Amino acid sequence: MRKRHWKNRKNRKCPDCSKIIYYTRKDAFDRAVGNNSVCKSCAQMDRKLTMETIEKMKQPKTTEHKKKTRRDKVWL
Ligand SMILES: [Zn+2]
Repeated sequence: MRKRHWKNRKNRKCPDCSKIIYYTRKDAFDRAVGNNSVCKSCAQMDRKLTMETIEKMKQPKTTEHKKKTRRDKVWL
């Protein structure tokens, strides 16, 4: 245990994957605790999930648009 090494460092567990995140700055650590922020890899996963959600949300609209187009074709 080299306690002196961690004198100016803080670390906390990622709330998603429990990976230890190390902080070199106390303000960054405090902000991360305040935001309950996840580690970098989980943040990227989150972004991927958000992109997937956006894609999923786009799909019904596309289907609706196709239906409308089809109906238009019927009327034509
Ligand atoms: Zn994580």
